[in-house]
Amino acid sequence: MVLWQRARRRKPATGDPTNAGAPPPAGRGRSLQRKLAVATAVGGLCTVVLAALVIAGSYGDFAAARQNLYDISAYREVLDAANALSAERGPANSVLGEPPSPRSTARERLQVFRARSDAALARLSAPPPVPFGLHSHQLPPLMIERVRERLARARTEIDELAGRPRQQRDMDEIRHAIESMFEVVDALQPAIAWQVRKLSACDDGLAAPALTGKMLGDLREYGGRMASQIMAPVAARQPMPVQSLVDATRSRGRLLELWQLAGPAYNMFGAAPALEQAYADAGHQFFGQGVAMIDSLVAQGRVSGNYSMTPTELTNRYVRTLEPLERLRRVFLDEVVAHFTATRAQALRELAAACGTSALILAVLGYMLVFAQRSVFLPLLRARAEVIGLAEARGHPHYPAPTSPAKPATQAAEMRRLFDAIDILRRKLRERATLTEQLEHQAHTDSLTGLLNRRALELVAAQYAAHESASLVLIDVDCFKQINDRHGHAAGDQVLRGIAAMMRALVPPEGVLARFGGEEFALLLPHGRPGAAAALAETLRAAVASRPVYLSGSTQLGVTASFGVAIGHGGPHHWQRLFGAADAAMYRAKAEGRNCVREAQNQEGMAAS
Ligand code: GH3
Ligand code: MG
Ligand code: MG
Repeated sequence: MVLWQRARRRKPATGDPTNAGAPPPAGRGRSLQRKLAVATAVGGLCTVVLAALVIAGSYGDFAAARQNLYDISAYREVLDAANALSAERGPANSVLGEPPSPRSTARERLQVFRARSDAALARLSAPPPVPFGLHSHQLPPLMIERVRERLARARTEIDELAGRPRQQRDMDEIRHAIESMFEVVDALQPAIAWQVRKLSACDDGLAAPALTGKMLGDLREYGGRMASQIMAPVAARQPMPVQSLVDATRSRGRLLELWQLAGPAYNMFGAAPALEQAYADAGHQFFGQGVAMIDSLVAQGRVSGNYSMTPTELTNRYVRTLEPLERLRRVFLDEVVAHFTATRAQALRELAAACGTSALILAVLGYMLVFAQRSVFLPLLRARAEVIGLAEARGHPHYPAPTSPAKPATQAAEMRRLFDAIDILRRKLRERATLTEQLEHQAHTDSLTGLLNRRALELVAAQYAAHESASLVLIDVDCFKQINDRHGHAAGDQVLRGIAAMMRALVPPEGVLARFGGEEFALLLPHGRPGAAAALAETLRAAVASRPVYLSGSTQLGVTASFGVAIGHGGPHHWQRLFGAADAAMYRAKAEGRNCVREAQNQEGMAAS
């Protein structure tokens, strides 16, 4: 620290380097940070909206796929019921062609098939509870009720007829009983059509599988019907009536038409080997063997009632050819259900992917914000504060701080390099500050005595305000030339050092002692009390005069000095007047015999006010 600055401390002005330790204003830095936060918030919001749209879309697809699977499964129940009612006709026909017997095989078979039909109808009337989030197309109860009525009537008719001896069964009655079973399946058709309409209205994609499923069910129905239509004359062993021929031919045409329509359905959902095989089997067994069997019986019935098969044989053999048709219907519906199950699973995967991706994007955004905050903005703000601190503290003796402040813990390599550069800057500034301090010290210090020099004293005096009073004491060693002449220049230097040390020890802390010229000294005191400065001058004079200065070896030298004291105003404008007054007083001391203190007369150091 520079001596003359230490000698006179003042309140630091605004912008003083001592303020450098205070944190610099961070408004601009924060604004960039705020912009990033706003940008991230907007980005996050957009992502949330986008994610919500994508997730809502995916959820909609999933919900639709779930509903479709439920609908198609419910629709299958109706088709299965129709199929069960169709299948009941086979054993019913057998019973009609056999003698009455409550415990025959055909009877027992009929009971089994009737139980299946009843169970299928019961499932339609009381379906399982609708799973959460789905809606059900519950069939109107009246539709099922009508089927039940028809079924009960048909069964009564069949049972009544089968209870009679065969000879008492009229062919028309048999045909009527068989046709009453047709009416049961026909009564279920409105329910099937109602379901197809509902499904098609819900989703276009359900229309084709629903209609194809119905057509494949119809194939099984008309396949059975064709045999049933010729069953009465076969059972009665009578020639084929025209009505039976017409009905069977119509059914045959209908079957071929349905086969053409439903044919392409095996590749509705892409390659399906099981379905393809079922198609091949149906084509080969039913449309090959089954239809040929009917054709042959029709041909026999055209000429006589002498048929090559009994009704039971016909039923047993023909039902086997119907099985591929039934399997085709079942395999197709299995494929449909599998397709919608896969669609639902895919929709669920997409929903999970949409949720996962959205969550990941939001997490990455959040992480980027935190990362930018911790690893970029906070270190940047800190670096900025450091640089401003270094810049503002330049030249301040306490700054730059000797040790670097702690660097941020999580730092990217770029930030580490930035702080390393700030460290280099701090080191360079510190070196420069030390050098500057040394130069300033040299510029204001007298190298011989270590006291301030004249320039430094004048700077101290200039720091006084104009209204402040000050005392100046000029001290001139008496007959110094002679000391030089007698003892040499080095001895003269030694005398100057000795006097300086002697006086410095006596000067109070607020006094500034300087070597003013060759063998002249000056003492500046921050007050203008008339007696005090003269008293101090007298103390100094007495000390100089009474204490010898030791030269090299054991040589002692007695020295005296003359003192001129003046009191006046401080500040640069009044310095010359104060100095002149003290100088004049000092010359008076010389003139009046030396080794004495003289004060300026008539306030000659005071500025005119
Ligand atoms: P007086 O009592 O009237 O003041 O007489 P004096 O001899 O002290 O005054 P004068 O001005 O005649 O001589 C001053 C001398 O001080 C002249 C110069 O050589 C000597 N001097 C000035 N600076 C130095 C210095 O740094 N070292 C030494 N040894 N002598 C110096
Ligand atoms: Mg002199
Ligand atoms: Mg002198």
